[in-house]
Amino acid sequence: MKALLLLVVILAGVWLWRSRQIPTIKKKPPATALHPLDMVRCTQCGMHIPGNEAVQGKKGPYCSQEHLKQLEP
Ligand SMILES: [Zn+2]
Repeated sequence: MKALLLLVVILAGVWLWRSRQIPTIKKKPPATALHPLDMVRCTQCGMHIPGNEAVQGKKGPYCSQEHLKQLEP
């Protein structure tokens, strides 16, 4: 059991060391920059709308609450 514990400690140390190294090599862009215009398609009418403005239903995204109610009463 001691060997296993030692292995865990070593792995944790390596993981910690690696996680510290990554930010200096590759800077992560802000999450908002990754998907500036993530367009989704309305399940009812097929209109394209920004993902943050879409109404999320069980069958998919909708352009409005009205269309959500039409397909999912
Ligand atoms: Zn629609």
